[in-house]
Amino acid sequence: MPGQDRPVALVTGGSRGIGSAVVQRLAQDGYDVAFCYRSQPESAEKTAELARATGARVLAHRADVADPAAARAFVALTEKEVGPVATVVSCAGIIRDKPLVLMAQEDWQDVVDVNLNGTYNICRAAVFPMIKRRAGSLVTLSSVAGVYGNVGQSNYAATKAGIIGFTRSVAKELGRYGIRANVVAPGFVATDMTAELSGAVAERMRERIALDRFGEPDEVADLVSFLVSDRAAYITGQVVQIDGGISL
Ligand code: NAP
Repeated sequence: MPGQDRPVALVTGGSRGIGSAVVQRLAQDGYDVAFCYRSQPESAEKTAELARATGARVLAHRADVADPAAARAFVALTEKEVGPVATVVSCAGIIRDKPLVLMAQEDWQDVVDVNLNGTYNICRAAVFPMIKRRAGSLVTLSSVAGVYGNVGQSNYAATKAGIIGFTRSVAKELGRYGIRANVVAPGFVATDMTAELSGAVAERMRERIALDRFGEPDEVADLVSFLVSDRAAYITGQVVQIDGGISL
């Protein structure tokens, strides 16, 4: 039941990869956490168990962020069952990589629906109660592809660039209500998403990374942990790249 004094974080795409690391890190930081996922309940249960082991209350909820009604219902359920949402981390994301000349309409639409519309759906539902409480922080997940573009990722890069414009605008709108909004833009991080890369492509990418390795989900989670905390109380509207120097 809500009412305990731990702050509440809501994380989308929390069952695997970066989102799972964020759920666990925020639980360690003292948050109760609600997270959603789309298709893999086993991964969700595993993440929830790890987070509960820290003493946090954890709600794992199946909800497609691309569905506005499901996103609203997830936020409402969190506020009712876990408590007032202090922090939103929008991690849910997909890729459908193809060169533009081969990109089908559904490759474009699916990526826009999940990555960009999903970010809007969740933030739209979560910010009204935050405005009423005059407090909150949002972190959205972009990508270096959203900053610089990437071959075969025109759909993905467009959504990730859109997330930057969205988040900066929200930061300008909501700062007066004590709400901060920042973007985390990772380079290559070792998750299921990058496991899809062929060995040769992964090796070519690694050669471009100054630190000579892919990042770890925990390293991104550490940055998110900082950005949502009071240690970052004067940081808003920023795009923080965590990319091992691939953009140098
Ligand atoms: P991942 O390992 O593929 O995990 C994706 C997560 O999102 C899963 O929990 C998945 O749940 C969930 N998800 C996917 N579609 C969803 C939907 N429609 N509704 C709700 N949940 C959904 O991905 P990741 O590598 O951790 O990436 C996390 C975020 O970081 C993404 O936004 C990605 O674009 C961004 N990013 C990643 C990298 C990288 O190198 N990995 C680099 C830059 C940016 P189910 O398994 O249940 O479907």
